[in-house]
Amino acid sequence: MERRLSGLAASTGLAFGPAVTFRALGEMRRAKGTVAGEKQALADAVLASLEAVTALAGSLEGEAADIVGFQAALLEDDALTDGAYTAIEGGAAADIAWRQAMAEEIAGYEASEDAYFRARAVDLTDIRDRVLRQLFDLPEPTTVPPGAVILALDLPPSAFLGIDWSRGGGIVLGAGSPTSHVAMLARGRSVPMVVGIGSEWEAISGTVVVDGVAGLVLTGPSHESIERARRRAGELGRLHEQAELRKSQPASTGDGTRIAVMVNVASLADVAGLGPETCDGIGLTRTEFLVELALRDEATQFEAYAGLLRWAAGRPVTIRTLDAGGDKPIAGYTLAGETNPFLGLRGIRLSLRHPDVFRVQLRALARAAAIGPLKVMLPMVTTAQELEQARVLLDAVLTELAAEGLPHAKPAIGIMVEVPAAAMAVASFDAAFFSIGSNDLTQYATAAARDGPGVAAYADVLHPGVLAMISHVARHGAAIGREVSLCGDAGGDPRAIPALLRAGIRTVSVSPGLLAVAKEAIRNVDLSLPDEGA
Ligand code: PEP
Ligand code: MG
Repeated sequence: MERRLSGLAASTGLAFGPAVTFRALGEMRRAKGTVAGEKQALADAVLASLEAVTALAGSLEGEAADIVGFQAALLEDDALTDGAYTAIEGGAAADIAWRQAMAEEIAGYEASEDAYFRARAVDLTDIRDRVLRQLFDLPEPTTVPPGAVILALDLPPSAFLGIDWSRGGGIVLGAGSPTSHVAMLARGRSVPMVVGIGSEWEAISGTVVVDGVAGLVLTGPSHESIERARRRAGELGRLHEQAELRKSQPASTGDGTRIAVMVNVASLADVAGLGPETCDGIGLTRTEFLVELALRDEATQFEAYAGLLRWAAGRPVTIRTLDAGGDKPIAGYTLAGETNPFLGLRGIRLSLRHPDVFRVQLRALARAAAIGPLKVMLPMVTTAQELEQARVLLDAVLTELAAEGLPHAKPAIGIMVEVPAAAMAVASFDAAFFSIGSNDLTQYATAAARDGPGVAAYADVLHPGVLAMISHVARHGAAIGREVSLCGDAGGDPRAIPALLRAGIRTVSVSPGLLAVAKEAIRNVDLSLPDEGA
């Protein structure tokens, strides 16, 4: 019988296909067999994982192949499995024994002095989960049939990346949030996604329709419902194609107001295949991933920043200094054990506490500024003093570089506006530009964690309180003639774009996958007409 379940739209579009369930590994326990049986089960699971990883390594190139090769080497290493076999002999079930052995190994990597080894801890977590999936007979992301609808309580980004989305498919989550990282990935790849449908996700099987426009899920759909979904998917696909065709044209609203549309990146890989002429530059570079691997490595950072400037070919490139903390911890750098990391030491607060690390990034940025129009953006700024302290450090770095005779230039220095107190007191910041981080601004203003299950409906950028702050910042920028952009997810969300433009935003920065859709949504707004939604 057909049933409708409502949740929150996290990635637009329509999908229908067979349900494939992903259970949270952390909650699963194996029924224990004999010692010999448990040992055999673990040996089989490790072997099957090794075969899967080896096959995957063969199909990849470059850094991705290296990572998977490293995982294969670990699975072949007896030292990793010996501890687990000993625990089985001591009476543990294979899953518990494997978890314990891996927990020790992962903790060892996480505590390493060397940033490279610390970063490898995620690869170990990945291996742990691969073997556990074998032990529980759960699907591997790589074996999900094309076009399937994934059902899970929540989905880690690594599982999303392992699935082949090239032939469609969708996602339905019992928990989750539209601002989570996996939702960002889904939007970037145009995978329809509905989150927060509650505990019912576990009982769903058979064909499922995912309506990522309305935030609805249909289970046991009738023949007519499937036909309707097919038709609407076709219509949406055509609209998408039309948007793609006009992607390289600049975006203006129906009344002719030009809106600059920039892209958000983490590295050059995010703009692979995209011509710089399709956008108005880079509005946000999240340097967390790069800097985590190259915390004190100026040359690597410089090359990465220089690569972005060369790609942009004269267009502005905004690079954000390290925004670690909150949902982006870096072992050995961020503070462990904070009760609420989102309200703790993160972003510029941490950079100012670690001048040794910050200095390296500022040097690499000042050197890259000699290549093109670089803008440096500070995250999580709360007080005017933070901006001034960063400026003093940048000036010191410029003096150093001049003394060393290295090519460099002084980049414009701006701030992210994502702390409500900073938004309301925006006039107290002498920043060259302002960029509204609507993801964090919304979570702080609505007191609803951006990754919090159950509170996603509160974390709405269209809340009048959030829009009032955005409009306050936009008006200030217009009054003093300094750019105000918006680089949170809302900038690429067709549902939010009309309200943002009406609040005075004239520059947005969006995930490259949403460039076409965002431009099309801008073209559909007419600022000379009264706001129908008001
Ligand atoms: C934001 O907070 O809106 C933002 C763009 O930064 P991040 O999502 O990286 O916190
Ligand atoms: Mg932020």
